[in-house]
Amino acid sequence: MRRLLFVFLCLSAFALAQQKNSGDELPKLQHLSADQVNLQIDPCTDFYQYACSKFFAANPIPPDQAGWGVAGPLLKWNETVMRQALEAAAAKKQGRTAAEQKIGDYWSSCMDESKVETASAKAFQLDLKRIDELKQKSQLVDELAHQHATIGDVWVVDDNATFAPMFGFTAIQDYDDAQKTVAQFDQGGFAMPGRDFYLNDDAKSVEVRKQYLAHVANMLKLTGESASQAAADAAVVLQMETELAKPAMDVVKRRDPKNINNKMTLAQLQKLSPSFDWQRYLALIHAPAQQTFLVTSPDFFRGLEQAIQQHPIAHWKVYLKWQLAHQSAPYLGKAFVNENFNFFNHTLAGTPELAPRWRRCVHSADNALGDALGQAYVARAFPPQSKERVLRIVKAIEGALDQDITQLSWMTDATKQQASAKLHAILNKVGYPDKWRDYSALEIKPDAYLENVHRATAFEFNRWLQKIGKPIDRYDWTMTPPTINAYYDPQFNTINFPAGILQPPFFSSEADDATNFGAEGSVIGHEITHGFDDQGRKFDEKGNLHDWWTAEDAKNYDERGKCISDEYTQEIPEAGVKQNGLLTQGEDTADNGGLYLALIGLESSLKQQGKTLETKGDDGLTELQRFFLSFANNWCEELRPEIMRTAVLTDPHSLPRYRVNNTIANMPEFARAFGCAKGKPLVHENACRVW
Ligand SMILES: [Zn+2]
Repeated sequence: MRRLLFVFLCLSAFALAQQKNSGDELPKLQHLSADQVNLQIDPCTDFYQYACSKFFAANPIPPDQAGWGVAGPLLKWNETVMRQALEAAAAKKQGRTAAEQKIGDYWSSCMDESKVETASAKAFQLDLKRIDELKQKSQLVDELAHQHATIGDVWVVDDNATFAPMFGFTAIQDYDDAQKTVAQFDQGGFAMPGRDFYLNDDAKSVEVRKQYLAHVANMLKLTGESASQAAADAAVVLQMETELAKPAMDVVKRRDPKNINNKMTLAQLQKLSPSFDWQRYLALIHAPAQQTFLVTSPDFFRGLEQAIQQHPIAHWKVYLKWQLAHQSAPYLGKAFVNENFNFFNHTLAGTPELAPRWRRCVHSADNALGDALGQAYVARAFPPQSKERVLRIVKAIEGALDQDITQLSWMTDATKQQASAKLHAILNKVGYPDKWRDYSALEIKPDAYLENVHRATAFEFNRWLQKIGKPIDRYDWTMTPPTINAYYDPQFNTINFPAGILQPPFFSSEADDATNFGAEGSVIGHEITHGFDDQGRKFDEKGNLHDWWTAEDAKNYDERGKCISDEYTQEIPEAGVKQNGLLTQGEDTADNGGLYLALIGLESSLKQQGKTLETKGDDGLTELQRFFLSFANNWCEELRPEIMRTAVLTDPHSLPRYRVNNTIANMPEFARAFGCAKGKPLVHENACRVW
């Protein structure tokens, strides 16, 4: 479990951001500028539009994007840097390093589209043949183990489920003993992004399912089925996935780690789902021997048992064939790529056009060989002085929380001491890993794209399996260096900021403090606050799921948390759905705490320079005004209605507009900065504040 900064920018399956022009030139990265402000709009009524609408008017969402914002130019910039590294490695004839051989040949195998049509199709046919030859249900385990070890990300636990056939399997820190790594079985087996997509009855959900049925049928046709067979089989797939979605744990309940901390022996799991040979599965994937397993959702595995019992082998063959085609589609020929895009990027995210091939290949290489490509990215894009300045901001914000904890009126000294100990135990990771991953055991060829993906998947799955039973490694990263995102890991008690987000407009070694603290500082504060949000506060300084709160302090905390979850429970007219504040409470708490901590950090940094928050700069803005504008600028991102709807239903982050307006409306410092009188929409009478 990790808490991200946002998912819009990394929803690669649904919304790979795109660029139309060639990637040869590096786009210019913009800093915040005062003339970006739209003076026609009252900042006290809609600060998001005040800060962002001029940008939106000048930068409409490109046709191959689900959303577009100030991070767009940075995304292009990062992609271009990666492309240049990949092209150079592919073109180099002699004396390539091991990393250059991997990324160069992977790039060549992806970019040669005609080769993909033939070579990938051949490898895919072999996979289909294996499924065709299945005779009885006892063989399901063999096929499933093979799929898990070759395609898809069975080890990646999403907020809603693991998006792999039948279920997910990974290594995770023991909730009760953070020094140990254990094996975890997770709910999964359905391809749409959350269980609500299968179960909701509103007209839009019914329509989306109709389109999903057509999509599954189209994919099955591409595997060689007749139109009538494919239509009948698609109905079977939807029925089976619905049967797996129904007993799956709801996304809100899943946020509470106590609900998913269910330890079982293998015998107990076998009793839960007797029709599946779990021992054999573990042997086939070469998982290290284990005494206990985490089973996130026992009800799901009861439901899986029923599905195995009720459906004949013929149905399971259809299901596995669909899942295989679904997971393989991005690495196959044009027909598969387009059909996959039509549903997952177009219907669910609203993107009108497919991305050019080079951008899809950049992201594919980043996903498969993150550390090898990341090394090249860091060498080109992240100098040591950037790392030093970011670390100084991190220290200033940690100091701000330290000060905040001592001053909290609602917390007793006993809990304050624990909170402070947890804060001091946080490990700050900035830019890239201290030690690069060794890919020497992974074979990459220049002309076999799907097979390269199979081998890279096997390599990464095995890397996760090898963690089981071993001591934890706090220095390992789950994001690659060029990623524009950040995360807090409650079980590792680490904050992690990839080099990809430590660039303008989020951070610049040339920008002033107010700009950097408002943008990157609020991101750093956000991640630190995750250690103390409604989820993070349940873990102690070592990462154990352990209650360190007095009953009175916990009650006070919950009251403050409820203020946040009530405030963010609201209709989202632009998405046509209601936001559940209990789903977004952790992220909203982190947004509010993060901005407050960044402000305290800025104030103390200015003090050292003999300035105050009211000091005016050359642009006519006070430090305080520039700080809030720089914060809002982070979230200048417009989204298409389809991706908004998908996000509100499945994503624990609020939409950008609310991340700005709700957060600042809780801060009297904002009203002071922009002269907002009581009664204005962005001056909340009942202002929420946790940290
Ligand atoms: Zn977050």
